[in-house]
Amino acid sequence: METVAPFIEVVEEIKEAGGEIFKLCFQCGLCDAVCPWNRVRDFSMRKLIREAAFGLTEIDGEDLWRCTTCGNCPTQCPRGVKQIDVAVALRRVATEYEVFPASVKSARTARASLISEGNPLQGERKNRSQWAKDQSIKPFSEEMEALYFVGCYLSYDPRMKKVAVATASILKKAGVEFGILGDRESCCGESIRKAGSEEVFKTLAKDNIKTFIEKGVKKIIVSSPHCYHTFKNEYPEFMVHFEVVHMNQYLMDLIEDGRLELKGEFSKRVTYHDPCYLGRHNGIYDEPRNILNRVPGLELVEMENFRKNSLCCGGGGGRIWMDTPKEERFSDIRLEQAKAAGASILATSCPYCITNFEESRLNLEYEDIVEIKDITEIINDML
Ligand code: SF4
Ligand code: SF4
Repeated sequence: METVAPFIEVVEEIKEAGGEIFKLCFQCGLCDAVCPWNRVRDFSMRKLIREAAFGLTEIDGEDLWRCTTCGNCPTQCPRGVKQIDVAVALRRVATEYEVFPASVKSARTARASLISEGNPLQGERKNRSQWAKDQSIKPFSEEMEALYFVGCYLSYDPRMKKVAVATASILKKAGVEFGILGDRESCCGESIRKAGSEEVFKTLAKDNIKTFIEKGVKKIIVSSPHCYHTFKNEYPEFMVHFEVVHMNQYLMDLIEDGRLELKGEFSKRVTYHDPCYLGRHNGIYDEPRNILNRVPGLELVEMENFRKNSLCCGGGGGRIWMDTPKEERFSDIRLEQAKAAGASILATSCPYCITNFEESRLNLEYEDIVEIKDITEIINDML
């Protein structure tokens, strides 16, 4: 290892941005051994950390934007280095200087849309609940059982709107008294925070928290693991606590309490993809599998990487808004794994995963080989 003199000011700036924990790293490289990037190209978190420790970070480079915050390497580190915090700190510094490589430019568009319309997809705020216009869904009020927090992709993305409709349909069939916030809902802010825009995150989080308090929200059902993660683990930084349940957890309760009855036969082989923010980050592995195992006729099979070793789809950490060359997409590998497992359906529970998998399905010309489904879509067809 060469000896280099540290650039003290840069090091201090990275520390101030929240990356100080890099000092614990002793360069063992165990993080790189599990990083999904090394399946598709060279990338070294170990090197990124060493450069940060010496103030040698290439602030305009691609590497500091690569980490998908998949949560794999923090579980391996013998020194407790929080690699995701280091990556986010570096992004905060780059964001402050407004230095971005070409692949990150589209994330800047998403950021601008978050600031002006409260969603990253350039949809108008007033159209946030357009997906629900024929669904007879009520606005949330205090006496209801729960708020359904729909999230940005399910509100605006044409593919994901189908998941919002399936979710609402299940809740109605189970007799759940629920409502939505309509144009008072803003992006949860999870991904823009990981992409280094802390102020945008704080503005979005405060908007939502103000609305939750004003409307008397206590229990929140979410479809996205990213909303789940930030409401549960990050919003408490603002001294608030709401009961948050992912739809998979809620669905399992509805089935166990006899509020939903599954009818007919679903004679297909299905594999389940654990989204990083549901599995590794929050330990929810059993509920989705338990739900699928309740479906008559359904055969559940595992892929090569599952539960805590699940393979990231590539969409976390704001990567869903960045450009990834076709040959570097983890989601392509995941579809190949689903095919190798003999599954005709790849089921999951995250809007980013579904978006990436649908794109890989087209790129790989797998339209006749594997279908991509949210668990709610499978269940709704069985009611
Ligand atoms: S969190 Fe995941 S993507 Fe990020 S460096 Fe670690 S293993 Fe790689
Ligand atoms: S696993 Fe931890 S100690 Fe080892 S190189 Fe990675 S960050 Fe450093």
